[in-house]
Amino acid sequence: MKIICVGRNYAEHAKELNNAIEDNPVIFMKPETALLTPRQPFFYPKFSTDVHHEVELVVRINKVGKNIAERFANKYYEELTVGIDFTARDLQQQLKTKGLPWELAKAFDGSAPIGSLIKKEEVDLKAGIHFSLKINGVEQQKGNSLDMIHSIDKIIAFVSNYITLKKGDLIFTGTPKGVSAIKINDVLEAFIGDKKLLTVKVK
Ligand code: MG
Repeated sequence: MKIICVGRNYAEHAKELNNAIEDNPVIFMKPETALLTPRQPFFYPKFSTDVHHEVELVVRINKVGKNIAERFANKYYEELTVGIDFTARDLQQQLKTKGLPWELAKAFDGSAPIGSLIKKEEVDLKAGIHFSLKINGVEQQKGNSLDMIHSIDKIIAFVSNYITLKKGDLIFTGTPKGVSAIKINDVLEAFIGDKKLLTVKVK
């Protein structure tokens, strides 16, 4: 499986990092070794002193798809959850300044915790999916899928023009504003609505 991520998909977050909004989704990937399942701790990496949380809605692809039309994209996922796109912001900034790829700042081990999956019937996609992140019990980020610049269906269609999607692939759909640094011993809890789907301890 592979993990595909979208950057700059919420206007307020693009603004907080001084990033331009692009016409097409900004795409990057994380390897399978980045995945953390619910309850696995996150070990703070030695190469960074500024790891940020980015809480995101995550969809799981349910069948093979290539060149998917946007109007059929909703048939390619049945389950979703929340995940955290951990980012070594200091390293990312160095790489961005040099015009180099972000991979090392985004794709490192444990950088993609995901929560328990729920069926998409359990949420009202049209009404918007509210999701949030608490750190040590205090709400730090919240977002709504209606505020995405590129919708889930558009992302699936767009990516599938370049990269064949397969069953089990995960798509991180971008983070709303409110990203900040984490520290050792923090407890992160991510929610869809008021349902807690993910807990990550930082060690
Ligand atoms: Mg992100």
